Amino acid sequence: MPRQGVFAKMDIQGFFSSIARSAVQLLYPPRCLMCARPGLDGVDLCEHCHQQLPFNQIACMACALPLPPNISEGAVCGRCQKKPPRYDQAFSLFSYEQPVIWLIQQLKFNEKLAHARLLGELIAESDCVTKISDDEGVCILPVPLFKKRLRQRGFNQSIELARALSKKTGWPMELQRVQRVRETSAQTGLDAKERRKNIRGAFEVLEALPQKHVVIIDDVVTTGSTANELSRVLKKAGVEKITVLSLARAPLR
Ligand SMILES: [Zn+2]
Ligand SMILES: [Zn+2]
Repeated sequence: MPRQGVFAKMDIQGFFSSIARSAVQLLYPPRCLMCARPGLDGVDLCEHCHQQLPFNQIACMACALPLPPNISEGAVCGRCQKKPPRYDQAFSLFSYEQPVIWLIQQLKFNEKLAHARLLGELIAESDCVTKISDDEGVCILPVPLFKKRLRQRGFNQSIELARALSKKTGWPMELQRVQRVRETSAQTGLDAKERRKNIRGAFEVLEALPQKHVVIIDDVVTTGSTANELSRVLKKAGVEKITVLSLARAPLR
């Protein structure tokens, strides 16, 4: 069977890449990507810089919007009360503030893939993940990029972020059945209504997903319109439960 052949090859590759990783760690111990001090617990971040990160501690239960510290846990933001999102729950590790903005921009525009590895590991080790139940069978869906955009950039930052999570949880990554079928102009500079209109019809489910619960992975959620549109087509295609897990969620201006 060619399938077995592929898996056998992957195991050998995995074996050698883990040896290579250990050798690299021995030769180049982890260094903080922000200040170059020695890293903490095998990751490329030091304790000092870890403490500076804007963790999204108080957030809307429905959309993960950062909320003021005086709000009680389990609150739902005004926008979600008026119009609940199409996804069922959302978690975001950080509020989109410095130095996370810098870490993400370095990844996206300067191809610092080491940042994706670090940020992906932080997501995988976070409380956000322990809140996701996998009783129904879960797959991880990194927000797909349009083919042309993927060619230009050379990588999809959401896939890079999702790798550590898939490795840690064993949840498979879904990279084939859902695609971005239309090129959309950048969402930056658009208001919430314009973003909704811009993203409408951008995704297509080519084949039904085997899992009932989909965890959408995105780097930055601004108004949530991309995750919402993706959730609309997934639910139409029979997905029962959707969690949006993002690295950072933009606070209200
Ligand atoms: Zn540091
Ligand atoms: Zn909300």
